[in-house]
Amino acid sequence: MEQAFLEELRHALEQERDKLAAELKSFARPDPKMAGDWDSQMPQFEPAEHGSHSSLEEEADEVEEYETRLATEHSLESRLLQVNQALTRMNAGTYGKCAKCGKEISPERLRANPAAEFDMEHS
Ligand SMILES: [Zn+2]
Repeated sequence: MEQAFLEELRHALEQERDKLAAELKSFARPDPKMAGDWDSQMPQFEPAEHGSHSSLEEEADEVEEYETRLATEHSLESRLLQVNQALTRMNAGTYGKCAKCGKEISPERLRANPAAEFDMEHS
C-alpha cells in the first residue's frame, strides 16, 4: 500500500476516533475498570411525587431515554473499538489485509470504511 494512501486513511481513522470519543463523552463516562468500555449516565429528570401519575410517566420517560442512550453507547463503543483496532493494525504493519484470508483489502473498500477488517469475500 502506498504510504500517502496509508497516511490519508490514518488521518481519517484518527478523526473518526476523536469524534466518537467526543460523542461518547457527552453522555457517558469511560469505565475505569475496563478499557474501551463506557457507562451511560442515567438521565436526570426533576423528581416528582412518588406514585403520582406524572411520576410514573416521568419514570417511563427516564427508562426510555436511558435505553436509547445504552443503544447509542453500544454502537459508538463498538465502532470506536473497530477504529482503534485498525489504528493498532497500522502500527503493527498488518493493516489493509483481510483478517480471515490475508488478501489485501481493496483501496475502494478501505476508503469507504478505513476500519474494514475483512475483504469483500469475508465481510
Ligand atoms: Zn478474506
